[in-house]
Amino acid sequence: MSKEALFWKKLKDKIVQCNLCPRNCLIKDGERGNCSVRENHSGKLISLVYGKPVSYHLDPIEKKPLYHFLPGEQTFSIGTAGCNLHCKYCQNWEISQCKPENAPAIDLMPEKVVKETKDVDSRIISFTYTEPTVFYEYMFDTAKLSGKMKNVYVSNGFINQAPLNRLIPLLDAANIDFKGNKEFYKKVTGSWIEPVLETLKALHKKKVWIEITNLIIPTLNDSEKDIKWLVDWIADNLDENVPLHFSAFWPTYKLTSLPATSLQKLREARKIAMKKLNYVYTGNLPDDEGNATYCPKCKKAIIKRQGFYVTQNLLKNGKCPCGKKIAGVWK
Ligand code: SF4
Ligand SMILES: [Zn+2]
Repeated sequence: MSKEALFWKKLKDKIVQCNLCPRNCLIKDGERGNCSVRENHSGKLISLVYGKPVSYHLDPIEKKPLYHFLPGEQTFSIGTAGCNLHCKYCQNWEISQCKPENAPAIDLMPEKVVKETKDVDSRIISFTYTEPTVFYEYMFDTAKLSGKMKNVYVSNGFINQAPLNRLIPLLDAANIDFKGNKEFYKKVTGSWIEPVLETLKALHKKKVWIEITNLIIPTLNDSEKDIKWLVDWIADNLDENVPLHFSAFWPTYKLTSLPATSLQKLREARKIAMKKLNYVYTGNLPDDEGNATYCPKCKKAIIKRQGFYVTQNLLKNGKCPCGKKIAGVWK
């Protein structure tokens, strides 16, 4: 179903401007924006992916990754075709970088997403896999219909402030991908860093539970300087309780010439980050140590995980057995 888009304006000669993300695309009649899922139909901007997920699964919440948000629960997760970034290493490029007509989708309107979520005994809906910003209308309507369910936004954070502010009251948690330094954003993702930092600040200020993922790519964003910059930025602009996930890169899409990230590299990054942040994880490679949550006070491992599964959880009412409150959403 084609649905009229939100956040756009009419210009002359049936040209429209989409103001959903910082690209603010100018789109002529019959053409599409940079994300390839928003099209100008005779001077009206249409979303081509409303109610049309190409990916839908029941996932552990740990897979988003969210480690401090209802651990051990499952989340019904959906994503449509399209993305407003073009990362050369996209792990989901078959669906994020293709036109909607080239990706087989099912019909799953917002009411059905909510029903499916109930039917599989979940209370969390995640907007994920590709980039939920580009299916904003579908996400927004679903979240609005979801009642007491929780809504999770797994995003690159490249969104304008007005749509973000309208979405925030409907969100319970978010995982935002932080890609690298200014130059990295330009060269490897085809975008720019500033809006992502603003998104993180806005979500944090409005008390949406956030966790950050940083995929570490050998030689491109893995220097000590890069890691320290991100850690300092989180400590200075957000707070030390925001969980940070360092994730391993696998050669794919347009970046097949680089090796996969070593566990040693992830562990080094974690060690640097632990100097300032309380909860730092390694991901995409087996690592029991980097996969557990530790109490910042008594240092005990309070939540242990194997892969995406919780194998031990000692938290009681959000507290470590020593009495220290652990930041997160636990019930
Ligand atoms: S959401 Fe798509 S069409 Fe709109 S500004 Fe961003 S890239 Fe352009
Ligand atoms: Zn403790």
